[in-house]
Amino acid sequence: MKKLLIAFGAVVLMISCSQKNPFFQEWDTPYGTAPFSQIKTEHYLPAFKEGIKQEKAEIKAIIDCKEAPTFENTVAAYDRAGALLAKVSGVFFNLAESDSTPEMQAIEEEVMPMITEAENEIFMNEDLFKRVKAVYDNMDGLTREQQMATKKLYQSFERNGVGLDAEGKKRFAEISTKLASLSQKFGQNLLAENNAFKEATGITVSEYYDFMGSCPDRAKREQVFKAYSSRGNNANENDNNGIVLEILKLRAEQAQLLGYKSFADYQLSNKMAGDPATVDNFLQPIMDASMAKAKEEMKDMQKIAGHKIEPWDYSYYAEKVRAQKYALDESQTKPYFQADSVLKGVFYAAETIYGIKIEPAPEVEVYNPSASAWKLTEPDGSLIGIFYKDYYVRPTKRGGAWMNNFRDQEGDIRPIIVNVCNFPAPGEDPTDAQPSLLTIDNVQTAFHEFGHALHGFLSKCNYKSISGTSVARDFVETFSQFNENFAFVPEILAVYANNYQTGETIPAELVAKIQNALKFNQGFTCGELCAASILDMKWHEMTAQELEAFKTPQDIRDFEAKVCKEMGLVDEIIPRYRTTYFNHIFNSGYSAGYYSYLWSEVLAVDAWEKFKADGVFNKETAKSFRETFLEKGGSEEPMTLYKQFRGADPDPSALMRARGLK
Ligand SMILES: [Zn+2]
Repeated sequence: MKKLLIAFGAVVLMISCSQKNPFFQEWDTPYGTAPFSQIKTEHYLPAFKEGIKQEKAEIKAIIDCKEAPTFENTVAAYDRAGALLAKVSGVFFNLAESDSTPEMQAIEEEVMPMITEAENEIFMNEDLFKRVKAVYDNMDGLTREQQMATKKLYQSFERNGVGLDAEGKKRFAEISTKLASLSQKFGQNLLAENNAFKEATGITVSEYYDFMGSCPDRAKREQVFKAYSSRGNNANENDNNGIVLEILKLRAEQAQLLGYKSFADYQLSNKMAGDPATVDNFLQPIMDASMAKAKEEMKDMQKIAGHKIEPWDYSYYAEKVRAQKYALDESQTKPYFQADSVLKGVFYAAETIYGIKIEPAPEVEVYNPSASAWKLTEPDGSLIGIFYKDYYVRPTKRGGAWMNNFRDQEGDIRPIIVNVCNFPAPGEDPTDAQPSLLTIDNVQTAFHEFGHALHGFLSKCNYKSISGTSVARDFVETFSQFNENFAFVPEILAVYANNYQTGETIPAELVAKIQNALKFNQGFTCGELCAASILDMKWHEMTAQELEAFKTPQDIRDFEAKVCKEMGLVDEIIPRYRTTYFNHIFNSGYSAGYYSYLWSEVLAVDAWEKFKADGVFNKETAKSFRETFLEKGGSEEPMTLYKQFRGADPDPSALMRARGLK
């Protein structure tokens, strides 16, 4: 009888299990990818709660360990902890960005404080810190990778307030929790404002630059410019002014608690650049060169326009000059850049350079019908990882383009990585199918994001905390920007840039025009990027006391104007992002870090100069690049790796040369 009961019990358990939360089960799916169709909104919250609970128990086991602290029983054990939390976070946070719903947003609001609190608890735990410090204080005998993992973990404690007294710790934790929810709110407001922008203007945020370059109706351009540049600043329920000020003040207070003068000082202290002054001194010469160039550019534009160039005229007349000077009009190039063909080019470049293979993986489920799954393998057939391509714009996706992991690389566990973009969606009506045709900028974006993906895919690290793209912010953009260089290499274009109607390969003459035009309009392009980088620095270089003076939206406008004037930005250009829609710095980890793009670009351009010198398809150079950087993740100091590859320090003037500013 008893036996029967158990058997009966087992059946009941199995049935209820199969209806239960997929996050609590092993995923019996190809390559352990997420079974998206089985995951329902109601599964997230219990999985997060259980994930946090399990992580706490795993951390407690590390603390309670009776043996003396070693790398293995402390740092490596910490690295392995939180597997369930990583599993649910991997799915949830990707979908919350790329396929969000009001329900997902509500969950996000609920889980963010829980996760932040759990993290705070870990990094303020003195008993755990004591063990980590014991390992950190005597790293002899550890591998370089183990030393770097230990150092990173040790710094995480210091940077999260483990050294504070009880009162300081309490305040630090309160601020962290508050900041997490404010950032979420900033992002959600911006999503609503982006959708409102589309309602009001008929174009999406990602189509903005394209539109401004091509719309002949000046009044319409002015309307679109004003709507675009006032996002988050419309005194409505999605206004971000108050949120921005609260975030800045709390960040400054938190940095001060840790003994830093400003948030920028705190942020820079574990980056390649090291301190705010180094960044400021790096940016200003780029700004000066960009503005000198912009003034030249505007002279040409002025001649065509016959009137004063306003900010809403810049791109439009720039396109006119481009058509005149370079005879390049993007309507000529777009037919060669159908999104699917471009993807083929992105893959072909990676396959050719690194000798890997990329093929469709229809057996892998995707989370949205417009996404697709791919498998990357080594020549011997071993798995490199699984890639999701999610290229097309939709209302549930936030603006911009990004790479993210669903699963990190760690030992034998191979990564699962996504590239999300906001390219124009192909028409839905199959009888009148409009293909997705990309701009030159879109094409660069596709190569850029796959550069990040390769950094994640080719990683060969033992610990996930330092694998793949888990490197300093101002180093991580090196590999994405480096990969952009392959987009317009003639041999690669010959493979992918085929006219979607005739199949004809892009003519050499058009390729030459594209290459010439890449250096075009750099006063504007580099100027607006540099201006946003400086604006970011100036906001975060202020002390908590200085920020107290800021109270109203007008104070924010006045500060922006003052900073732009001081950096020498011309009136015809505004920063790439203004404060109330600067998602990178208020909701995406680039705070006091937007300069990273330019900083990494120096490394990317300098590395590319070596590729050019050795021959772009030189197998030895590619092998050295792969082994020195792409396989190493954060297992060595960036500058050490750089010098290993290049044999010298990076040369900052390479950036200005590459952009045609010098
Ligand atoms: Zn990037």
